Amino acid sequence: MSAGIVQAAYIVAAVLFIMSLAGLSKQETARSGNYYGIAGMAIALIATIFGPESQGTVWVIIAMIIGGAIGMYYARRVEMTEMPELVAILHSFVGMAAVLVGFNTYFDHGDLSGVMLNIHLVEIFLGVFIGAVTFTGSVVAFGKLRGSISSKPLMLPHRHKLNLAAVVVSFLLMVAFVKAEGSTIALIVVALIAFAFGYHLVASIGGADMPVVVSMLNSYSGWAAAAAGFMLANDLLIVTGALVGSSGAILSYIMCKAMNRSFISVIAGGFGTDGSSAAADEDHGEHQEASAEEVAEMLKDARSVVITPGYGMAVAQAQYPVHEITEKLRKKGVDVRFGIHPVAGRLPGHMNVLLAEAKVPYDIVLEMDEINDDFSETDVVLVIGANDTVNPAAMEDPNSPIAGMPVLEVWKSKHVIVFKRSMNTGYAGVQNPLFFKENSQMLFGDAKDSCNKILEHI
Ligand code: NDP
Repeated sequence: MSAGIVQAAYIVAAVLFIMSLAGLSKQETARSGNYYGIAGMAIALIATIFGPESQGTVWVIIAMIIGGAIGMYYARRVEMTEMPELVAILHSFVGMAAVLVGFNTYFDHGDLSGVMLNIHLVEIFLGVFIGAVTFTGSVVAFGKLRGSISSKPLMLPHRHKLNLAAVVVSFLLMVAFVKAEGSTIALIVVALIAFAFGYHLVASIGGADMPVVVSMLNSYSGWAAAAAGFMLANDLLIVTGALVGSSGAILSYIMCKAMNRSFISVIAGGFGTDGSSAAADEDHGEHQEASAEEVAEMLKDARSVVITPGYGMAVAQAQYPVHEITEKLRKKGVDVRFGIHPVAGRLPGHMNVLLAEAKVPYDIVLEMDEINDDFSETDVVLVIGANDTVNPAAMEDPNSPIAGMPVLEVWKSKHVIVFKRSMNTGYAGVQNPLFFKENSQMLFGDAKDSCNKILEHI
């Protein structure tokens, strides 16, 4: 394949990636967005592998077959609830790839000299730094999302000073690295500092701030890919990395806004909170329970119902019976709508994906801001496996780890039914005063079983 054809293919692929991002921004067009992305990636791979600069094509194809087979095996096996961990670990691969490309390019950087050599060395240094931070940060995020690492923030003494020291020392090392026209020791030391920095950065972020971390690592993985693109002088990798990096940054901003957090305070790790809540040990009083039959009766008498799903709906795979309840009630003339919190579940858009999977019509699925004013006129709210996202402590307890985060104000409605298995806390580990309110009743059990029982009585 000639260089001209490769460049043309890169342009087509870049356009397809932009169309993919545009498609993914709306539920209705998300499927075609995915197809554009797949087509763009296929074109990019073919052009790169068969381009004039490519060597060892057979080895590349063997590696792709092995990697593709492992990827396909895991993607087929992964449960919807494990998707966030999968995304986190995939980000770590991008980070490690950038580190390896960095070292490889360093040992084999041809015969550059003068300014060109300096620029190349800076690219290598930054590529290794960003890649290493992304790698360990994503591995910690993987552990926290999987539950194998505590979601509580790691609070080392002088943690902000440690972070600052890591950045300053890395910068000084970069200056020395460029001045010496390359130094293997400096590159190894900065990689180790960046590994530790990435670990510490994510470990010191509390459970409630994890949504920002996930999107931030998404952004870092993009910048790591862009850095690899600079090192390899591959235009498409630079463009693609920049697209992922900037869209991840925009998502992080949206997540911060949704959680009423400043980006800097999240990145710096748990500013203004020691991770404990005053309300956690408070006596909230007694909770009340309801049976599936009672809930079914309540729903039949209601004029308006709002369903607020959370992570528990994903665990129980309750979206299908939830959709059936919705359809049955709508046929009876009940106004049923969904209220989606921006950080419900464990991935941005997690609940929207599940509801779309169960074929819930898009027009009754509303964002938190669109529905929050309507709760006072709602007869029944079904809280299906949500906890932190409907916790009034976020508004009432300034010491709560989720203080300041806007939540779905479900307690303003006439009746609230909470579907969960126990009185356990949600991801942020905070007790929920909603469960003890006079108008709240708990429907204990697996959310899918409870929905199926309700269906029998409607
Ligand atoms: P939570 O994680 O706060 O709570 C989920 C609830 O579901 C639990 O209290 C659990 O209670 C219940 N549950 C679990 N399994 C079942 C089941 N089979 N049947 C019924 N109930 C079940 O969920 P939310 O969605 O409200 O909040 C999301 C949290 O995750 C927030 O803290 C957010 O910051 C964080 N997060 C979000 C990310 C994102 O991008 N969206 C990324 C990372 C973290 P019980 O055990 O008693 O059943």
